[in-house]
Amino acid sequence: MDTLFLRPKPTRREFLQVATASLALLGLSQALSPRVVKALEETSGKPAVVWLHGQECTGCSESFVNNLDPTAAAIILDTISLRYHETLMAASGYHAEEALEDAISESGYLLVIEGAIPLAEDGLYCTIGGKTFKDIVRESVKNAAAVICVGSCATFGGFPAAGPTDAVGFLYKNTKKHHEFDDVLGDKPVINLPRCPMHPESLVAIIVHYLTFGDIPPLDNFQRPIAFYGELMHDNCPRRGQFEAGHFLTDWGDPSQAGYCLYLKGCKGPWARHDCWKRGWNGTSAYCINVNAPCIGCSEPEFYERFSPLYDRQFDVTLPGIGKVDIDKVMATVAAIAAAGIGIDTIITKLKGEES
Ligand code: SF4
Ligand code: SF4
Repeated sequence: MDTLFLRPKPTRREFLQVATASLALLGLSQALSPRVVKALEETSGKPAVVWLHGQECTGCSESFVNNLDPTAAAIILDTISLRYHETLMAASGYHAEEALEDAISESGYLLVIEGAIPLAEDGLYCTIGGKTFKDIVRESVKNAAAVICVGSCATFGGFPAAGPTDAVGFLYKNTKKHHEFDDVLGDKPVINLPRCPMHPESLVAIIVHYLTFGDIPPLDNFQRPIAFYGELMHDNCPRRGQFEAGHFLTDWGDPSQAGYCLYLKGCKGPWARHDCWKRGWNGTSAYCINVNAPCIGCSEPEFYERFSPLYDRQFDVTLPGIGKVDIDKVMATVAAIAAAGIGIDTIITKLKGEES
């Protein structure tokens, strides 16, 4: 299964579009574009990708294909050789399992993992073709060149980690690193692309970087590319001005609160590192806060268990240079002096002064 979709071979102009977008995403110089285009043209159809599905909803695959033609994801599906993907491949049953066995008997492929890996009962909560997902992952990692975990489930356990199956991400269960696959992983690179669902552009950019430079971009402590997960949502939020002004949404049905900060409705933006504000999903500009929903913190290892219930405020805010803030006290003060037009930073600083 070398290509999944019938479309003409990508043109040089399409390759250039992918190169330019990927370099911009990774914060690299546009001067490298010719090198990226050359790499994409030369490797076209060669790099093998094996994409596994475990305990999950397939939303990350959905997110990937929903950005198809004429976007970067379509070009990447033409450029790589997608050898195994249970949702997209035409083969089924024994033929599908043979395709996986063939693909992982060779070496040097990129292994994409979507979905958590249940460990309870020796992995019996998720079996495919009579094998546990845990064992399939173990077998598939052995000859891989690198492992890319897509979505919150495969990276930190996500929703399944909150259930009874002892589900884990490939390297982590929430914030805690486990060592289930250390023996087969060795020193292979692992790239974590959490979010629920994963953003297709981040996967495309990682694959383009790998095909062009033969390595992966810099990662943070949780194996997330710093280019995509280096900044807090809260520091870049279009509603940050409302937060500063003390305008917090309390009633979804009150039109006078439209556009207010969603902190009291459970927004995890002050703890969530991602770049959702730069891009939308499904080819639009839609992401949580842009569609009037709080950030649920799905880029973080704490998601889902520690951040639930998602629409309830759970923590007080820690602000840089100020420290932990008791938001109830701030709200009371904001309400008391709202007419004075004093900014929330001034109020917080004053309250801190009173505490010390
Ligand atoms: Fe589905 Fe979210 Fe898990 Fe992706 S991360 S497979 S969208 S639950
Ligand atoms: Fe934006 Fe959420 Fe921060 Fe409010 S709390 S400014 S909605 S990220």
